[in-house]
Amino acid sequence: SHWVYNFGGSEADGNARMRNLLGSKGANLAEMTNMGLPVPPGFTITTELCNSYFAMGHVYPANLKSEVDVAIERICALTGRRLGDPEKPLLLSIRSGARISIPGMMEAILNLGLNDQTVEALARETGDERFAYDNYRRFIQKYSDVVLGIDQIAFEEIIEDYKDERDILFDADLSAEDWKAIIEQFKAMVQDELDEPFPQDIQKQLWGAISSVFSSWMNARAITYRHLHDIPEDWGTSANVQAMVFGNLDDNSAVGVAFTRSQDTGEKTLEGSFLPRAHGEDMESSSAKPLPLIRSEGSDVKSMEELMPDIFSKFLTLCDRLETHYMDMMKLGFTIEKGKLWMLQARAATRTPKAALRVAVDLAKEGLITESEAVARVDPRSLDQLLHPTISDSEKRVVFAKGMAASPGAASGHLVFRTQDAEEFVSHGRQVILMRVETSPEDVHGMHVARGIVTARGGMTSHAAVVARGMGIPCVTGAGAMHIDYKQESVTVGSVVLRKGDLITIDGSSGDVLNGDVQMQNPELSEEFATLMGWVDKIRRLKVRCNADTPQDAKAAREFGAEGIGLCRTEHMFFQDDRIFDIRAMIIATSEEDRRRSMDKLLPLQRADFEALFETMAGLPVTIRLLDPPLHEFLPNNRHDIAAMAHALKIDEDSLTSRIHAMHEFNPMLGHRGCRLAISKPEVVEMQARAIFEAAVSAGEKTGAPVQPEIMVPLVSIREELEFVKARIDSTAKAVMKEMGHEIDYRVGTMIELPRAALQARKIAESAEFFSFGTNDLTQTTYGISRDDAARFIADYIKAGVLEQDPFISIDIEGVGELIEIASERGRFARPDITLGICGEHGGDPVSIEFCERVGLDYVSCSPYRVPIARLSAAQATL
Ligand code: PEP
Ligand code: MG
Repeated sequence: SHWVYNFGGSEADGNARMRNLLGSKGANLAEMTNMGLPVPPGFTITTELCNSYFAMGHVYPANLKSEVDVAIERICALTGRRLGDPEKPLLLSIRSGARISIPGMMEAILNLGLNDQTVEALARETGDERFAYDNYRRFIQKYSDVVLGIDQIAFEEIIEDYKDERDILFDADLSAEDWKAIIEQFKAMVQDELDEPFPQDIQKQLWGAISSVFSSWMNARAITYRHLHDIPEDWGTSANVQAMVFGNLDDNSAVGVAFTRSQDTGEKTLEGSFLPRAHGEDMESSSAKPLPLIRSEGSDVKSMEELMPDIFSKFLTLCDRLETHYMDMMKLGFTIEKGKLWMLQARAATRTPKAALRVAVDLAKEGLITESEAVARVDPRSLDQLLHPTISDSEKRVVFAKGMAASPGAASGHLVFRTQDAEEFVSHGRQVILMRVETSPEDVHGMHVARGIVTARGGMTSHAAVVARGMGIPCVTGAGAMHIDYKQESVTVGSVVLRKGDLITIDGSSGDVLNGDVQMQNPELSEEFATLMGWVDKIRRLKVRCNADTPQDAKAAREFGAEGIGLCRTEHMFFQDDRIFDIRAMIIATSEEDRRRSMDKLLPLQRADFEALFETMAGLPVTIRLLDPPLHEFLPNNRHDIAAMAHALKIDEDSLTSRIHAMHEFNPMLGHRGCRLAISKPEVVEMQARAIFEAAVSAGEKTGAPVQPEIMVPLVSIREELEFVKARIDSTAKAVMKEMGHEIDYRVGTMIELPRAALQARKIAESAEFFSFGTNDLTQTTYGISRDDAARFIADYIKAGVLEQDPFISIDIEGVGELIEIASERGRFARPDITLGICGEHGGDPVSIEFCERVGLDYVSCSPYRVPIARLSAAQATL
């Protein structure tokens, strides 16, 4: 095998498709060479060499040296220069280059090849002695730092002391003679530190630099970055060795960076900056003032367009060629040496989610890519950031604290300080904002159910920020003025104290933490978004419904393109106002008579709710699930709440307490919930079915669109359970039809959320017209892991590498997935036209949706804001 690939000159050994072997930088330099663009000649040592280097214990294969020698000869022939030549020395840059850029790897070394002799040649050739010695000292500094391991600070101190002694303020005021003197001090220091001189031998310089590139693959920062981003060690890095070009030779020289479109918005305007008479590294220095590439109206800052019009127009043509060639928005690095343009870098530019969307759509409209390619290019998760509500402009902001804008969007909710409280509040239908000093993996479950997250410590890359962005929920980090007291469950800023349960609002786009609840406005969706979604809808096969319990949620979801309701959790409809007392009364009733009395109160409320849902979703399917309340979520569990309930129900506290004790369950998630409740208390089914049917009739009359309710029975594992409940539904339907003199078209189906149901799917399908996979419970029961207690140890599983992912977030394809496949197959066998859907949290997760497409489900159902994500994921799943 060979290890060295040439680029520059008229042809290259590699190309852009060889990114894995050559790294991104090397592959693109080769590609640009093949396109005939001006690239300074050089070569890439492959990532395979990197792997071999470590496998062999930091030793190079025997043939590497001779391959490098040949490649250097090639550069010499193309440039007319030689390494170490006292007249025309060849100077080189050395850069690392992995498949994707990895922060923490070796920084570029420039001007390798300078020594006490060649520096004189450089001075003669450029006619600028100061320039030559300034470059030499920079090289010594950088090389000593990255290759020899001597701290930069030692060099900076020498320079500072030298200036102090002579009352010189700025480096720019140091002459060639000054730099020569400083260089002598540098060399003396290196000798002191290492007991050997700074290498004058250029072969020694070269191999030292190459080894540093490969070694930097294993430095601590790079390793940490790889772990954080799941980048395998065996990707390796390449090393790129390239002839130097100088952007600092004269007024016709410059360095620059360009983006072919706006990184922020994706608009087609050239962005970037350039710096005349400068070195590449000057661009990053704080003292430099880079100039814009294009002229901006009304500004007197000169631009490249004005300063170098000829080269600028050449460069523009080149930008177009590169975009057309790569079919993408590009980031370009270039140097102009004495009026000649050289390309040093080209790669797909990083961009904001907003820009990514616009660029994908524009490229398709420009004909560079197809509509499907545009759809494939937008990361579904990134839509999250574009779809969140913001605080209404008209709202007055009462700012409680300020932090960093860590994840966009705004959210209001009740303040909680612990994951357990977050889950507890949410299970009672209340939205929460989770506040922590900082978050850790133990908090992920709480973060998952929270509407927003705020921390007192941490920055943009803190755990809270990274996880929140991943989940697409608003987040403010590092609001340092907040004093959080976990014991008291309170937070203080100055004299203002907020406590658990208080309403707060966070704005993850500005970093504001606000006191109280504020009016939100829905995001304005861009034209590009609408266009892309149009393409998405042409491509996808899976339908996308929403999980919605209120007309507001249903309305938001419909605006996001939901094609019906896949899950209305009727127990959630009781989490408002005083209804909780009525449903509690029903739950604790000891006689059927008592129960019927409490239900008579509930019936009109339910009917009104359903009517509103049917109206909002007119023309689309609506699946309503019968009551499924895990009892512990509905009954009070402390003295105070019990007293309040006793008061509301006008019963004495002691008998209520003993009634609640009698109903205590050791394992409520596996207890008297779902259809089990319906079997003990069929009158509840009858009440709900009646409310649904009466609402269907009146909503149908109102909207003119016939309503076909889909009634879903939860937690079925035995076919007879379903039949028992279905019989009650059917008889209620008959009764209502007779009373109202109106035909009602309805369907009865079941959730598949227990392993036994999945296995018995053939029998169950004989009684069910549809299945909806409840993957929350199905995951809980397949693993035997309590969904409410998983948070405490799933993080450990992931840390230990036992699990790759939290199966409550992304579906466990191997286990839970197999049950879904079995149930789908058996269900279809019994009833070929059975409708199959999913309504667990996984219904909005891109990877899980890909699985649903593969199994051939009919629809996925997810929370309203995830509907567009699900539509896009469903389209991508077919590509
Ligand atoms: C499920 O179990 O996946 C489901 C959708 O129902 P719930 O989350 O209400 O138990
Ligand atoms: Mg369930």
